[in-house]
Amino acid sequence: MKALVKAKGEEGLWLQEVPEPKIKPHEVLVKIKKSAICGTDVHIYKWDEWAKKTIPVPMIVGHEFMGEIIEVGESVQGLSPGDRVCAEGHLTCGQCISCKTGKRYLCTSRKGIGVNTTGTFAEYAALPAENIFKLPSFVSDDVASIFDPFGNAVHTALTFNLTAEDVLITGAGPIGCMVTAIAKMAGARHIIVTDINEGRLQLAKQMGATHTVDVSKTSLQEAVKTLGISTGFTVGLEMSGSPVAFNDMLKAMRHGGQIALLGILPPGTVIDWDLVIFKLLAIKGIYGREGFSTWFQMTNLLESGLNIDPVITHRFPIEEFDHGFRLMKDGKSGKVILNWE
Ligand code: NAD
Ligand code: ZN
Repeated sequence: MKALVKAKGEEGLWLQEVPEPKIKPHEVLVKIKKSAICGTDVHIYKWDEWAKKTIPVPMIVGHEFMGEIIEVGESVQGLSPGDRVCAEGHLTCGQCISCKTGKRYLCTSRKGIGVNTTGTFAEYAALPAENIFKLPSFVSDDVASIFDPFGNAVHTALTFNLTAEDVLITGAGPIGCMVTAIAKMAGARHIIVTDINEGRLQLAKQMGATHTVDVSKTSLQEAVKTLGISTGFTVGLEMSGSPVAFNDMLKAMRHGGQIALLGILPPGTVIDWDLVIFKLLAIKGIYGREGFSTWFQMTNLLESGLNIDPVITHRFPIEEFDHGFRLMKDGKSGKVILNWE
């Protein structure tokens, strides 16, 4: 079969012929129809410091996909060939205190598909049945292929109440844009989205931002003054991983504000703790999805009319993967989908 392999410890990915996987009794074999490129895959492509110390080489990478089950292992129940599926990308151990107490999303030794173990940028993938999510028919193939980052967005956005709140979203990448659409649907009053990329701010506007601020041109403080929102934000959703954005957010929060932190800040990031303490701010880290609770929230939101289609900006056949990765690398796209057939 064809697969996108991190074959060498240098920039790039390679489309190669590899053996088809064989399933274990607890696994299913999925024929992949669509893959999507995640920011994590771009780190792996670029072979940055994080990738060098994390990714075993050679390995098939990738974790955002949808496809169809074509074979089920002998101990698998409730899944059959022909099922349209995607999968939770975090593998949990089942043995640690979190797993044993019914909070698998807090597993202390979880592994990432396509990061720590064989990924899904391939024609076929063998995956544990317990990670599989069956897709309802109202979810399109394209949207299904971005369920993993959509889940990050839903997990972040639904951590704090957004209805009637003033919400600051820093970072209008694909996940920030999906968060924006959820905040709009939840009935937030002001939804201010910041970025340093004009194209992405336009997308945020389309997804429901009431105001966007290009912080490379106007400071957030200045923009907030002009907009007349002087009391500060009650909810902050950090979606950029930028220390500058996070520090600006801390300054812009109202006393008692709540912050959900999805963006991965670089090691050694310094913040003004006085702002956290004297403004009595609550900061909550967000990682992945909150197990399948998030997955059902995702389908429920879509069924009740949430539209995340605009965040998908490019589609390529798998042979043109390099084009997709370059667009992502240069911040010139939303989500990029790679088609296997
Ligand atoms: P992305 O890199 O596409 O988006 C980040 C955006 O932030 C970009 O559009 C960038 O231009 C913008 N940005 C940079 N500096 C900024 C600044 N000073 N102010 C405002 N915006 C600024 O990433 P994404 O795929 O949308 O993911 C968002 C973040 O979440 C990333 O940091 C990613 O690493 C992280 N992430 C975390 C998890 C998790 O489980 N915690 C999962 C997926 C992604
Ligand atoms: Zn565990």
